[in-house]
Amino acid sequence: TYVVTDACIRCKYMDCVEVCPVDCFYEGENMLVINPSECIDCGVCEPECPAEAILPDTESGLEQWLEINNTFSAQWPNV
Ligand code: SF4
Repeated sequence: TYVVTDACIRCKYMDCVEVCPVDCFYEGENMLVINPSECIDCGVCEPECPAEAILPDTESGLEQWLEINNTFSAQWPNV
């Protein structure tokens, strides 16, 4: 799965939302998150993010962000 990280906070360009083929972005007040169980790992959103906030969870040190994406995508509205 891909995860949205801290560079998205107070950014929310939304370019990623437009390209995602499975519509798995969710929006809170300060940032977007990806639902890890809906993401099909296509990678299309990563280069679309002007803030470079979206990273594959295979990168090291992203465990906390994966947890945040998982938790908040269950609570926030789909965008
Ligand atoms: Fe959507 Fe693909 Fe990005 Fe996953 S990797 S959030 S499926 S655009």
